Amino acid sequence: MAQQFMKCSNINSKPPSENNPSPVPPGKESSDFIREIIREDLRTGKYQGRVHTRFPPEPNGYLHIGHAKSICLNFGIARDFGGKCNLRMDDTNPCKEEVEYVESILEDVRWLGFDWEDRMFYASDYFEQIYLWAEELIQKGNAYVCELTADQVRDTRGTLTQPGRESPFRNRPVAENLELFRQMRAGKFPDGSRTLRAKIDMASPNLNLRDPVMYRILHAEHHRTGDAWCIYPMYDFTHGQSDSIERITHSICTLEFENHRPLYDWYIRELGIYAPQQIEFARLNLTYTVMSKRKLLELVKGGYVRGWDDPRMPTISGLRRRGYTPEAIREFCARIGVAKVEGTVEISLLEHCLREDLNKRAPRVMGVLKPLKVVIDNYPEGQVEQMEAVNNPEDAAAGTRQVPFSRVVYIEEDDFREDPPKKYHRLAPGKEVRLRYAYLITCTEVIKDPKTGAVVELHCTYDPATRGGNTPDGRKVKGTIHWVSAAHTLTAEARLYDYLFTKENPDVVEEEGKTFLDNLNPNSLVVSPFLVEPGLAGATAGERYQFERLGYFSVDPDATPERPVFNRSVTLKDTWSKIEKAQGKER
Ligand code: ATP
Ligand code: MG
Repeated sequence: MAQQFMKCSNINSKPPSENNPSPVPPGKESSDFIREIIREDLRTGKYQGRVHTRFPPEPNGYLHIGHAKSICLNFGIARDFGGKCNLRMDDTNPCKEEVEYVESILEDVRWLGFDWEDRMFYASDYFEQIYLWAEELIQKGNAYVCELTADQVRDTRGTLTQPGRESPFRNRPVAENLELFRQMRAGKFPDGSRTLRAKIDMASPNLNLRDPVMYRILHAEHHRTGDAWCIYPMYDFTHGQSDSIERITHSICTLEFENHRPLYDWYIRELGIYAPQQIEFARLNLTYTVMSKRKLLELVKGGYVRGWDDPRMPTISGLRRRGYTPEAIREFCARIGVAKVEGTVEISLLEHCLREDLNKRAPRVMGVLKPLKVVIDNYPEGQVEQMEAVNNPEDAAAGTRQVPFSRVVYIEEDDFREDPPKKYHRLAPGKEVRLRYAYLITCTEVIKDPKTGAVVELHCTYDPATRGGNTPDGRKVKGTIHWVSAAHTLTAEARLYDYLFTKENPDVVEEEGKTFLDNLNPNSLVVSPFLVEPGLAGATAGERYQFERLGYFSVDPDATPERPVFNRSVTLKDTWSKIEKAQGKER
């Protein structure tokens, strides 16, 4: 299938400048088809000027970047129109839901910079009301207790071209239905032996309207209601009514719920309760990753990653641990916009948003991943100089720091070539290069391992007149490389990441029987010792740095004061800019 790229309609929009969204002046809101609908509703007074949205996760996993799109949309709309946004746990499935997930969701939404104030709700808080509504539908002759097994219900449902068959229990008298339903609640029947079904239309072209199940029997402990219930409402019999109870005006959800809308509307109409308006948008898909919670759970449970917050995961907690900022994620969500057609967004756009943000704020430091020893022969033995280094060239207020320099330094292996190709501006025999913030050095001798022939050490001379990397005589030296002083360096750990999958779309498999797991990238994590400047001792979890020429890194919670651990958040190479340029040319 041809890759479809998202249009970046509002490519120049700025990230929110503060963490707590405040109302945006009229006319300044970003625009998309949902906001257009809301503007029109405000104009016609459809909800008396109210705008009330909600973000309704099911606490059966950690939130991912797709959820961030929905969070930014729902909370963003509330902010833009001076409305409200609720946070609601759609917790109707006791078998898959856990308190751990609820807690992670709260943390993630808050971290993204959104505030539900006192409007945190649980669908399970509405169980009694939803039960009463079920009885009401029974009383109206709109629902019946069915004794078909799950398989039989499926088999009699029909297909897109074939109508379904009516259940033999469809025409039970109201009193019998009521009695049976109450017995279901009272725990008289085993799991799966009965369901409550809506009596709608077994021939409807919309399969969701073919007498859908409203309640099932499940003798399972719920993370909030405990064992108070042994029957649980289906998501479809809960979601619309929960929106109604909360008087949501615009119930925004992803496209797969489009053909559930007639069912939600049917329940609301038959119950005669307040009707929110459902609007569907396209879910976010991202290259080189999977987004379904089921698959993410598989990765965690199968030990393919270190946990939900593994920095390779597309979860909010994974991105946070990787070093992503809420600002970068919000900017990404603003740039991808909201559309009605499914597409896949390049993961490089997400990385681009992070680079843009960290470029402004991350302090610069130096560290060496693949060390090559350099001895500066004419530098006095035992001497140490403190070199002044700029903390952030993008931010004058960030100031400077002192970095120790001495006779033996490490540089990157890659920054030396014995046989340099043309335009190689780094170090080579007889060539001069600038050590960032220190001196210009010239390579005078190459020492090799007699057995392997590998370069193990360089000898150089330095020019004392070039302190700070300046050239008072005006001579041009193109190459500038980073380094650390051997006597002062601190050994840290670097965790270098690549995409979790080798395929743009991990769900595409080569052979039958293979799954997305067969497309896992065996090199998605490389752990390496990392020689860093001594000022980084005691770096604490969550701090973000740019290691010059290597990328942006964040300090991992695994760090100890003696051994900092740095996650590479993103390299410095911006592939998105290239894609953007190419797209610009196409247009
Ligand atoms: P998944 O399909 O990943 O398991 P879900 O839809 O089951 O996700 P929910 O917890 O029900 O997850 O989702 C909460 C809200 O987030 C819903 O309104 C849902 O439509 C929205 N959402 C989920 N995934 C995405 C996505 N990839 N892009 C945009 N919105 C999403
Ligand atoms: Mg869902």
